[in-house]
Amino acid sequence: MTSVLSAYATARSSRSWPRDRIERHQQTLWRQMPLDDYPALKAFAGQKLSDLPIVDVADYRARFAAFNRHGLTQAAATAAAQAAEAGHPGELPDGLRAGFSTGTSGTQRGVFVTSPQERSTYMGSLLGKLMSPADLLTTQRVALCLRAGNDLYRPAIGPRVGFFPLTPDHGPLVEAIADFKPQVLIAPPQVLLSLAEAGKPAGCRRIFYGAEALNDTERAFITERLGARPDPIYQATEGFLGAPCRLGTLHLNEDSLIIERDDLGGGTFRPIVTDLKRRTQAVVRLRLDDVLWEMRCACGSRHAAVKPVCGRVQDAWTVDGRTTVWPDGIENEVAPHIAPSRRWIATQYHDRVTVACPDAGDAATIHERLNYFGVRTVEVPYDPALDFPKRRHVRRVS
Ligand SMILES: [Zn+2]
Repeated sequence: MTSVLSAYATARSSRSWPRDRIERHQQTLWRQMPLDDYPALKAFAGQKLSDLPIVDVADYRARFAAFNRHGLTQAAATAAAQAAEAGHPGELPDGLRAGFSTGTSGTQRGVFVTSPQERSTYMGSLLGKLMSPADLLTTQRVALCLRAGNDLYRPAIGPRVGFFPLTPDHGPLVEAIADFKPQVLIAPPQVLLSLAEAGKPAGCRRIFYGAEALNDTERAFITERLGARPDPIYQATEGFLGAPCRLGTLHLNEDSLIIERDDLGGGTFRPIVTDLKRRTQAVVRLRLDDVLWEMRCACGSRHAAVKPVCGRVQDAWTVDGRTTVWPDGIENEVAPHIAPSRRWIATQYHDRVTVACPDAGDAATIHERLNYFGVRTVEVPYDPALDFPKRRHVRRVS
């Protein structure tokens, strides 16, 4: 209970901290990191953060055992995560629980392990970033739609949280969420779009989305149909990375993270994340695959502001043989011309772009819009399995 309240209080109060206070706080937490406890990091104990190696996600996942301090093997953690997904208690010591990240089709899913205290801290921080004390008092039901239905994060304080596992068929899911009548709803864009199409649930005061990109056309459609603007949450296997301010701008959670920038040029970067609070698994200088754009926000927060994640670095297209176009550049060209609830996938291969969508009219429109980039397009059948568990409009296969 103490860690929930403490994380909640820090998340609330840090919104008004000046920049130097945020940075002092980060340095204090960094000095408390027990690097000695992790096989991968013990050689760097006592050193400055900038002296430690940067690790990429694939390498980090492959070296699972070296980055946790309980001697857990990846096989043990994966078995426990599978058991949790099937609704059974896992077999891990000390109250540790394992779960999977949403994952992207075709890539290895991330497995993460958390302690009871980390789960409390996470929930306190999430509630603190998203809800004021007044919101907490007046909200009875929060619907949380995640990849898996396990209740890793049932909070000890605040509103009742309903967990809704993500399923390929959204019909029953839409009904279940509507029946729950949430006042606050957290779900991936593909589910929000199905809900918006059905026009329910009604009466949501706040809507948050994560795990997938959401374009402006879709955002407007959801806002109009569900009566609340979907605001971004930046959440990954590697932690809770960002939350929206009152203006709907995503701010990085620099009260518990240090986020360095791997510059991609033109105001974009890949985040290199150090989580100052996690202990079960160390997240130190972990370079993610997300493309982020710097931006400014007028809300007054000194936590860095970024545009919501627009896609993955690996999904960037090369046009004219040399120019890099980030996924949102493609998305913004196509999306305004396609009805927001329609599915489509455009994938660049070395010699062509394949276009897949269930509707022939949309296919013609997408071919036409992609002409702008001078790429050769070919139509292929749409496979819904490619959009589960994560939907991505713009992809690249190299
Ligand atoms: Zn802001």
